[in-house]
Amino acid sequence: INADNGAPTIFDKIIAKEIPSTIVYEDDKVLAFKDISPQAPVHVLVIPKFRDGLTQLGKAEQRHGEILGQLLYAARIVAEKEGILDGFRVVINNGPSACQSVYHLHLHVLGGRQMKWPPG
Ligand code: 5GP
Repeated sequence: INADNGAPTIFDKIIAKEIPSTIVYEDDKVLAFKDISPQAPVHVLVIPKFRDGLTQLGKAEQRHGEILGQLLYAARIVAEKEGILDGFRVVINNGPSACQSVYHLHLHVLGGRQMKWPPG
Protein backbone atom coordinates (compact mmCIF):
# COMPACT_ATOMS: atom_id res chain seq x y z
CA ILE A 1 0.00 0.00 0.00
CA ASN A 2 1.36 3.40 -1.00
CA ALA A 3 1.60 6.43 1.24
CA ASP A 4 1.53 10.13 0.36
CA ASN A 5 5.06 11.31 -0.39
CA GLY A 6 4.11 14.30 -2.53
CA ALA A 7 5.90 12.91 -5.59
CA PRO A 8 4.44 13.29 -9.08
CA THR A 9 2.13 10.42 -10.03
CA ILE A 10 1.13 8.54 -13.12
CA PHE A 11 -1.86 10.84 -13.42
CA ASP A 12 0.49 13.71 -14.41
CA LYS A 13 1.49 11.64 -17.44
CA ILE A 14 -2.16 10.94 -18.23
CA ILE A 15 -2.94 14.68 -18.01
CA ALA A 16 0.05 15.42 -20.28
CA LYS A 17 -1.18 12.62 -22.60
CA GLU A 18 2.21 10.94 -22.36
CA ILE A 19 0.27 7.85 -21.28
CA PRO A 20 -2.88 7.07 -23.24
CA SER A 21 -6.24 6.95 -21.54
CA THR A 22 -9.85 6.83 -22.65
CA ILE A 23 -11.07 10.34 -21.89
CA VAL A 24 -14.74 10.70 -21.02
CA TYR A 25 -14.77 14.43 -20.17
CA GLU A 26 -12.22 17.22 -20.18
CA ASP A 27 -12.21 20.94 -19.53
CA ASP A 28 -9.52 23.40 -18.50
CA LYS A 29 -9.56 22.29 -14.84
CA VAL A 30 -10.78 18.69 -14.83
CA LEU A 31 -10.00 15.43 -16.62
CA ALA A 32 -12.16 12.29 -16.51
CA PHE A 33 -10.91 9.00 -17.95
CA LYS A 34 -11.73 5.31 -17.71
CA ASP A 35 -10.09 3.35 -14.91
CA ILE A 36 -7.57 0.82 -16.24
CA SER A 37 -8.88 -1.79 -13.82
CA PRO A 38 -12.65 -1.27 -13.79
CA GLN A 39 -14.60 -2.44 -10.74
CA ALA A 40 -17.97 -1.97 -12.46
CA PRO A 41 -19.23 -1.74 -16.07
CA VAL A 42 -18.73 2.04 -15.73
CA HIS A 43 -15.65 3.10 -13.77
CA VAL A 44 -14.32 6.57 -14.50
CA LEU A 45 -11.74 8.62 -12.57
CA VAL A 46 -12.27 12.38 -12.24
CA ILE A 47 -9.14 14.36 -11.36
CA PRO A 48 -8.01 17.98 -11.10
CA LYS A 49 -5.51 18.89 -13.84
CA PHE A 50 -3.54 20.91 -11.28
CA ARG A 51 -2.96 18.88 -8.14
CA ASP A 52 -2.13 22.01 -6.11
CA GLY A 53 -1.45 20.10 -2.91
CA LEU A 54 -4.47 17.83 -3.29
CA THR A 55 -2.62 14.56 -3.04
CA GLN A 56 -5.62 13.31 -1.07
CA LEU A 57 -8.90 14.73 0.20
CA GLY A 58 -7.44 14.87 3.70
CA LYS A 59 -5.08 17.62 2.48
CA ALA A 60 -7.92 19.84 1.28
CA GLU A 61 -7.94 23.47 2.40
CA GLN A 62 -10.57 26.17 2.08
CA ARG A 63 -8.91 27.49 -1.08
CA HIS A 64 -9.63 24.16 -2.79
CA GLY A 65 -13.39 24.64 -2.46
CA GLU A 66 -13.91 25.71 -6.07
CA ILE A 67 -12.06 22.79 -7.65
CA LEU A 68 -13.69 20.34 -5.24
CA GLY A 69 -17.08 21.54 -6.42
CA GLN A 70 -16.00 21.33 -10.06
CA LEU A 71 -14.86 17.73 -9.56
CA LEU A 72 -18.19 16.74 -8.05
CA TYR A 73 -20.11 18.44 -10.85
CA ALA A 74 -17.86 16.73 -13.42
CA ALA A 75 -18.80 13.40 -11.81
CA ARG A 76 -22.42 14.20 -12.62
CA ILE A 77 -21.52 15.05 -16.24
CA VAL A 78 -19.65 11.73 -16.50
CA ALA A 79 -22.63 9.84 -15.08
CA GLU A 80 -24.91 11.40 -17.68
CA LYS A 81 -22.46 10.73 -20.54
CA GLU A 82 -22.09 7.12 -19.46
CA GLY A 83 -25.85 6.63 -19.15
CA ILE A 84 -25.89 5.89 -15.40
CA LEU A 85 -27.51 9.06 -14.10
CA ASP A 86 -30.29 7.00 -12.51
CA GLY A 87 -27.82 5.11 -10.29
CA PHE A 88 -24.16 5.71 -9.68
CA ARG A 89 -21.64 5.93 -6.86
CA VAL A 90 -18.85 8.45 -6.26
CA VAL A 91 -15.96 7.28 -4.08
CA ILE A 92 -12.82 8.94 -2.78
CA ASN A 93 -10.27 6.66 -1.13
CA ASN A 94 -8.18 8.66 1.33
CA GLY A 95 -4.96 7.19 2.66
CA PRO A 96 -3.50 3.70 3.02
CA SER A 97 -6.27 2.28 5.21
CA ALA A 98 -8.81 3.28 2.56
CA CYS A 99 -6.68 1.67 -0.19
CA GLN A 100 -5.64 4.92 -1.87
CA SER A 101 -2.89 3.96 -4.32
CA VAL A 102 -2.39 7.12 -6.41
CA TYR A 103 -1.66 10.33 -4.51
CA HIS A 104 -3.36 12.78 -6.85
CA LEU A 105 -6.92 13.40 -5.68
CA HIS A 106 -9.43 11.44 -7.74
CA LEU A 107 -13.12 10.64 -7.62
CA HIS A 108 -14.19 7.18 -8.71
CA VAL A 109 -17.50 7.26 -10.61
CA LEU A 110 -18.96 3.75 -10.59
CA GLY A 111 -22.14 2.29 -12.01
CA GLY A 112 -23.80 0.07 -14.56
CA ARG A 113 -24.54 -2.68 -12.06
CA GLN A 114 -26.31 -3.02 -8.72
CA MET A 115 -23.94 -1.57 -6.12
CA LYS A 116 -23.74 -3.11 -2.66
CA TRP A 117 -23.85 -1.21 0.61
CA PRO A 118 -21.88 -1.10 2.81
CA PRO A 119 -18.76 -1.49 0.63
CA GLY A 120 -15.99 -3.78 1.88
P1 5GP B 1 -7.09 4.56 -5.65
O1 5GP B 1 -6.80 3.15 -5.25
O2 5GP B 1 -5.89 5.44 -5.43
O3 5GP B 1 -8.34 5.14 -5.04
O4 5GP B 1 -7.41 4.52 -7.20
C1 5GP B 1 -6.43 4.61 -8.18
C2 5GP B 1 -7.05 4.08 -9.43
O5 5GP B 1 -6.23 4.43 -10.53
C3 5GP B 1 -7.20 2.55 -9.47
O6 5GP B 1 -8.57 2.21 -9.59
C4 5GP B 1 -6.37 2.13 -10.67
O7 5GP B 1 -6.95 1.07 -11.39
C5 5GP B 1 -6.28 3.41 -11.48
N1 5GP B 1 -5.09 3.51 -12.29
C6 5GP B 1 -3.81 3.34 -11.87
N2 5GP B 1 -2.95 3.53 -12.87
C7 5GP B 1 -3.71 3.84 -13.96
C8 5GP B 1 -3.38 4.16 -15.31
O8 5GP B 1 -2.20 4.18 -15.74
N3 5GP B 1 -4.41 4.43 -16.16
C9 5GP B 1 -5.71 4.41 -15.74
N4 5GP B 1 -6.65 4.69 -16.65
N5 5GP B 1 -6.05 4.13 -14.47
C10 5GP B 1 -5.06 3.84 -13.60
